[in-house]
Amino acid sequence: MHNSSELELVSITKKYGDTVAVDTISYRFGHGVYACLLGPSGCGKSSTLRMIAGHEDVTDGSIVLSGRDVSHLPPAKRGTAMMFQNYALFPHLSVRDNVAFSLRMAGVEYKKRSRRADELLELVEMSNYAERKPDQLSGGQQQRVALARALITRPQVLLLDEPLSALDPFLRIRMRAELKRLQRELGISFIHVTHGQDEALALADEIIVMNNAKIEQAGPARDVYNTPKTAFVARFMGGHNVLSTSGGQIALRSDAVDITSPGKGRIDGHVTGIEYQGRHVALTASVTGEQEITVLLSDEDFVNAPKELGELIGFDWADRSICEVC
Ligand code: ADP
Repeated sequence: MHNSSELELVSITKKYGDTVAVDTISYRFGHGVYACLLGPSGCGKSSTLRMIAGHEDVTDGSIVLSGRDVSHLPPAKRGTAMMFQNYALFPHLSVRDNVAFSLRMAGVEYKKRSRRADELLELVEMSNYAERKPDQLSGGQQQRVALARALITRPQVLLLDEPLSALDPFLRIRMRAELKRLQRELGISFIHVTHGQDEALALADEIIVMNNAKIEQAGPARDVYNTPKTAFVARFMGGHNVLSTSGGQIALRSDAVDITSPGKGRIDGHVTGIEYQGRHVALTASVTGEQEITVLLSDEDFVNAPKELGELIGFDWADRSICEVC
């Protein structure tokens, strides 16, 4: 039995001429989850999202939503809706008519579609702006309208392509909380493309890390952060050191490393950087094999035992902090 609105990617591939943008990826999104497709620019996130939306054909493989193969259906018939990066609002239409647009295309009569648009505007807290034109709104407000417009079709899955990238840092954090609230309230799945690991960690129940057209690692956000399987994931998620040791390559969280006297830890190194970060001090040192290690110390610990640039110190960590990566 499949879950009511489960989305499954079955070995999907996207080629543009000779470029393989997405290479045979498979993934099953749980029902009603906030999922982030995360990875560096060019790794195939948007192509994946556009294939799910139906804005791009799959070259190979299939997309199954609620047990139905939707791979070759037009976007409006899939049960998905997409919110674009630039919001793509119609400048000559009022906010209400923008939101109601897809219902107008579907032949829903004016009163009914306006009433439904007003419900959605209420959901995104934009009821007072229904008569305005898009150019009379701030970026954050335009985004809410774009969200309402995407949600009016009652999608089972909402697809968001870098939805926060056009906002200033303050608004981005506010809208982030707003997206999460909406996803919970609606109980549908959101699939959100981002290249920001902090954004993915803040929002996602599930993170799908992509690299070079493939899924590098996927799973609950905590697992991906705490137990990276590859050096790429450890570096990309941040907060980790990746070290080559005699036993292989390991990832170590910067906050799981202790400082010792030289010779008393597992490895010694000369301090090359001391960065004050508010609650923490990030101390960087060069260690054997021309490698670098970064340690996060509490501000208090650092003040009690300050270190200087060039000083030789030792580093230690518990066995349980070691994460073997390939
Ligand atoms: P991301 O969203 O992770 O930045 P994309 O899915 O946009 O990655 O792109 C993946 C790869 O496919 C890149 O190499 C990109 O240059 C290429 N690509 C994307 N769209 C097109 C297109 N319309 N035509 C040709 N190549 C494309």
